[in-house]
Amino acid sequence: MKTAEIAQRYLDFFEKKGHTIVPSASLVTDDPALLFTVAGMVPFIPYLSGDVPAPYPSAADNQKCIRTNDIEEVGKTPRHGTFFQMLGNWSFGDYFKEGAITYAWELLTSSEEDGGLGFDPKDLWVTVYEEDDEAHDLWLKLSSLPAERIQRLGKDTNYWTTGLPGPAGPCSEIFFDRGPDYGIDGGPATDDDRYVEIWNLVFMQYEITNVRSKFEFDIVGELPAKNIDTGMGLERVAFIKQGVDNMYETDQVRPVLDKAVELSGRAYGANHEDDVRFRVVADHIRSSLMLLSDGVTPSNDGRGYILRRLMRRAIRSMRLLGVDGPSFAELFATSRDAMKAAYPIVGTDYERLSQYALAEEATFLRTLASGSEILDESVAATKAAGDAQLSGAQAFLLHDTYGFPIDLTLEIVEEAGITVDRAAFDTLMTEQRERAKADARSRKGQLADTSVYRELRAQGETVFTGYTDLETESRIL
Ligand code: ATP
Ligand code: MG
Ligand code: MG
Ligand code: MG
Repeated sequence: MKTAEIAQRYLDFFEKKGHTIVPSASLVTDDPALLFTVAGMVPFIPYLSGDVPAPYPSAADNQKCIRTNDIEEVGKTPRHGTFFQMLGNWSFGDYFKEGAITYAWELLTSSEEDGGLGFDPKDLWVTVYEEDDEAHDLWLKLSSLPAERIQRLGKDTNYWTTGLPGPAGPCSEIFFDRGPDYGIDGGPATDDDRYVEIWNLVFMQYEITNVRSKFEFDIVGELPAKNIDTGMGLERVAFIKQGVDNMYETDQVRPVLDKAVELSGRAYGANHEDDVRFRVVADHIRSSLMLLSDGVTPSNDGRGYILRRLMRRAIRSMRLLGVDGPSFAELFATSRDAMKAAYPIVGTDYERLSQYALAEEATFLRTLASGSEILDESVAATKAAGDAQLSGAQAFLLHDTYGFPIDLTLEIVEEAGITVDRAAFDTLMTEQRERAKADARSRKGQLADTSVYRELRAQGETVFTGYTDLETESRIL
């Protein structure tokens, strides 16, 4: 079952159940504090909060999402992409727990011939919030799940709040069991890669006040209009239905992975580290393409910086796969071909998108070429001298003079089996900042590239003051 077909089945199912089908919102939010649409909920916040009356009692959609706070997981777990699509069904004071659970179970387990997703009930587990007896009992009543496969978990995983007074409520999550080859038999509570979370049902039920922390608050009472918010990971369902091991091997992503394999001349499946790199390339190229198609362009701050960083990480990964020259022309064109059926804009606007990608690649390859050469020499000299640590001064020189980012220095040096004198590097950085303050002019015009990294570090966490439970774009890549 192709990814697009799964999405269509989802939307058709909910349309038959009376939901209004809503197109995906942009990856770029209206809210400057929230860089990207990180969940299906984002465009519905005004309706869910009650600020704006919902124009329909229930809706369903397939929302494009970006979560850079999952970036470290990409390629290592089977299930985390920086770009992914979240299917969702929404009730604004219409149906509640019973309806949401009934629909979820029916869509997942009805046969493919009947328009369902054809999951075998034996492969499914659910979790409920530990005090949510109602959800627990509804699952027992409405599904064929035995009590052992309905696990009760705490607020950290199974409760949704905004971190502010207002709506809140328990969640119930649905997991697919990949089987004993992938881990022990303890259910999702064991938090193992064996159990893949595919769908989260949020029951917005209470009004809370006196919020002391995200999970310490007082419940004022029941909300007058209870809402349903659900999110199903399209790529996760796709990889399970396609019988492959992870989301990077699904039809919308795998062609890019294969192209990277071809360009590198290395095999996929031969070496774990290379495999992670192939998956990172496939993920980041697609995310970059989708960001470009929503109007983001590479820059030194905010959204543009995230895009720049994704592209640079892809380039770095290709280098680690032995490809020193340009590869974006082929990688982006491959991603375009895999995505344009679902998102025609990536085809029609490709000329513009690819120009940004190619320019970014050319610039970064120049930076890398000069920096890498010097770094390799320094590493060789360090080793020849019998030292296990590259001096802070060397790392600083690379950063300061050649615009070679410290994170890359750390990575390359570590791969060579030695370390960097980080404390000395930090001291030099501090001294430089002080010098710069004393003589702002001396810095002008010289550090165009390194300023990117400095700015981001200074930027720190982006706090989304509304719905802080959403995974905000807080991570520094
Ligand atoms: P996980 O615990 O696996 O990181 P999550 O609890 O963070 O997932 P939710 O915030 O509940 O995920 O999002 C709803 C659904 O979106 C998840 O059940 C999952 O199917 C999907 N999803 C979440 N994050 C990603 C991601 N980075 N890549 C692909 N799908 C995702
Ligand atoms: Mg997560
Ligand atoms: Mg989870
Ligand atoms: Mg979840």
